[in-house]
Amino acid sequence: MGCCHYYAPSEGGDEAFSVDMSAITFGRGVLKEAGDHAAALGISRVALMTDARLAKLEHTATVKRALETAGLDVVLYDEVRVEPTDESFQAASRFASEAGVNGFVSLGGGSVIDTAKAANLYSSYPAEFLTYVNAPIGGGLTIPGPLKPHIACPTTSGTGSECTGIAVFDLLAMKAKTGIVSRRLRPSMALIDPETTRSLPKNVVAASAFDVLSHALESYTAQPYSQRPAPATPSLRPMSQGANPWSDLGCREAVRILGEYMVRAVDDAEDDEARGQLMWAATLAGIAFGNAGCHAPHGMSYSVSGLVRDFRPEGYPAELPIVPHGMSVIVNAPSVFRFTAEACPERHLEGARLLGAETRGATPADAGEVLAGEIIGLMRKTAMPNGLSGVGYGETDVAALTEGSFPQKRLLDNAPREITKPVLSDLYVSALSYW
Ligand SMILES: [Zn+2]
Repeated sequence: MGCCHYYAPSEGGDEAFSVDMSAITFGRGVLKEAGDHAAALGISRVALMTDARLAKLEHTATVKRALETAGLDVVLYDEVRVEPTDESFQAASRFASEAGVNGFVSLGGGSVIDTAKAANLYSSYPAEFLTYVNAPIGGGLTIPGPLKPHIACPTTSGTGSECTGIAVFDLLAMKAKTGIVSRRLRPSMALIDPETTRSLPKNVVAASAFDVLSHALESYTAQPYSQRPAPATPSLRPMSQGANPWSDLGCREAVRILGEYMVRAVDDAEDDEARGQLMWAATLAGIAFGNAGCHAPHGMSYSVSGLVRDFRPEGYPAELPIVPHGMSVIVNAPSVFRFTAEACPERHLEGARLLGAETRGATPADAGEVLAGEIIGLMRKTAMPNGLSGVGYGETDVAALTEGSFPQKRLLDNAPREITKPVLSDLYVSALSYW
C-alpha cells in the first residue's frame, strides 16, 4: 500500500489509536439466534423496536418468536419514525422507561437502531433531552455509565449504525440534523442477516451502497490520527479519531467488494451473493468509520437532507419528500474528493483502483479526478441523481446549504484539508451537477 508515511508522528499529535466495536454475528438466518444472544446478555424483559412497515414483515415475527422461545418478555414498539426527530427519540424513551425493560433489540435501518440507542440512553439516565446531544447545539455531557444490553439487527446494507456509537436525528426547533456520540451508545451486539435485504427496492439498495462506499472512502482519506492533537486524557480520545491502520483494513476491503458487487446487487434482487457481499461491506465500513470518522461528504449531507423541498425518489414512501441518507452523501462525494486528493493522492488513487479503475500511469495530480470519475460512473450505472441539481437544488441554494452544514465541525475537521466556509460553499457549487 502506498501511504507508508501517512501515520508519521507530528508535534503534539496523538501517538495512539483505539479500536472499539460491537460483537458481531453475521450470516443467513441469524435473526433466529436473537433469543439465545439476548438471554446470554442477561436480558429478561426486552423492548423490540422497529418501524410500522417492518413490523408487518416476517423478520419481526422471526425475532419476536426467537426472543419468546428463549423465555423473554417481549414488548413491541413499532412506532419508530423513519428519519427520527428529537420528539420521536423522546417518545421512544418514554416507552422504554414505562415498559421497564432491561434490554433492547432493534430491527431496521439506521433510524430504528439510532432510536433504540436514544431510548436506551434516556431510560437508563433520564435527563433533559439536550443534555447528551453534541455541543454546541446540546450540552455534550458525557454519558455517566454503561447502558443496558442492545442487540442491533440491521435490515439495510448501509448505515453501519449497528457498529457505531452515533445516533442521528432532526432537531425540529432548529431544523438541523445533529446527534449524540458516545462509545456507550454502541450496541452490545450486531446480528447481521443478509436475508433481510432481499425484499429491498433497487433504489434503496443503491442509496445504501453509496452510503457504505462513502463511509469507506471518507474514513480511508480522513486526516491521519497522528495529526489530530493528542487528547488531554486517554478517555477523551474521540471515536472520530481519524484514519488509522485498523480502519484502513475495513475500508479497503469494503471498497473492493463494492467495486465488484454493487451494480449486480442493485440490478437483481435475486442475486443473493451480491446482496450478501454488500451487507458484509456495510459491516466492514461501519466498523471502520466507527473508529475513524467520516468527513466532508457526510458533513455536507446534513443540510442536503435537512433542506429538502419536493424530492420523492422511487422506492421510498411517497408521503414525505426525502433525500435518502446515501443520496444526500454521494451527491457531494466527487466534488469533495477532487478537493481532498491533494492531501493524500495515493489514498485517492488506491480507492479508485480498488473500485476497479485502471490507475497505472496516473500521477498524484490525477488522483482526485480518477476517483471522482469512478464514483460518477457508478452513480450513472445505478441511476443516482446527478449531483445536487438531481435532488432539487440550484445555485441559489448554495448559501443555505453552506450555513446548514458549517456547524458540523466533528465531520468537517476530520477531512485531510481545511474546510473553511468559502471552501465549503465552493464544494457545493462543484457538486451541483456531474454530467
Ligand atoms: Zn452514512
